[in-house]
Amino acid sequence: MLRLQGKVAVVTGGSSGLGLATAQRFAREGAFVYITGRRQDELDMAISLIGDRAAAVRGDVQNLQDLDRLYDRIKSENGKIDILVANAGFIDPEPLVEVTEKNFDQTFGINVRGLLFTVQKALPLFRDGGAIVLISSIAAFKGIPRYTAYSATKASVRSFVRTWTAELKDRGIRINAISPGAIDTPIIDAQAATKEGADAIRASFRAATPLDRLGRPEEIAAAALFLASDESSYVAGADLVVDGGLSAL
Ligand code: NAD
Repeated sequence: MLRLQGKVAVVTGGSSGLGLATAQRFAREGAFVYITGRRQDELDMAISLIGDRAAAVRGDVQNLQDLDRLYDRIKSENGKIDILVANAGFIDPEPLVEVTEKNFDQTFGINVRGLLFTVQKALPLFRDGGAIVLISSIAAFKGIPRYTAYSATKASVRSFVRTWTAELKDRGIRINAISPGAIDTPIIDAQAATKEGADAIRASFRAATPLDRLGRPEEIAAAALFLASDESSYVAGADLVVDGGLSAL
């Protein structure tokens, strides 16, 4: 029995990492999945991996016209959305004394402003009783050096889950967050200037994780499937930590 049969899902940032793994899993469970991202070549590659139960719409979550285009297309092709995974995210770690305006604005622009309007603009198409999953991070509630801006954006995401659960309760829309620990995706490489630097980041996260490894994108996809499906029918306003025990220590 497929768990998302007949559902229409949107996964932002669905061309790599957690988003791609989630889109692949949702499509295998019977959903039709729209993925978004900024680069057409990466979107094309992702569609070839997900298969014909998916479509790509190029766009930047910071650009409200791009979001309108995405939802106009879904409206004309399907008329509704059942599931939204707001996953697109950005990090460029800087210590507090070096935080630049540009980095601050970009981090908040993508992770907070972009996520807010991704959800707001989906609502007119959203089926009552649908599910929204916001990708937060354990950085929202842990002190990690150099994560000043990023961690604050993820704390905002946690806050959105609470407010929107209250605001959307009459529509039966369940909103939950996932807080991943260190998951092996390109976002780890993006935090270092060299391969050796990225290896050191991976090693330090691994050393801090009780399960003694980084997580796999498929392990976040499994959590997203749980929160997007009827398996979690009584879960709302929650933050599901998927971190190999990292935040328990
Ligand atoms: P990733 O770099 O593979 O994926 C990030 C995705 O977001 C990419 O597809 C990228 O194109 C997209 N994106 C970035 N800026 C965008 C924009 N302006 N408009 C549209 N798309 C944009 O990394 P990932 O690890 O898969 O990250 C996915 C989410 O998971 C992010 O929100 C990240 O903060 C969160 N997260 C990741 C980890 C981890 O260790 N990998 C841990 C906690 C949280």
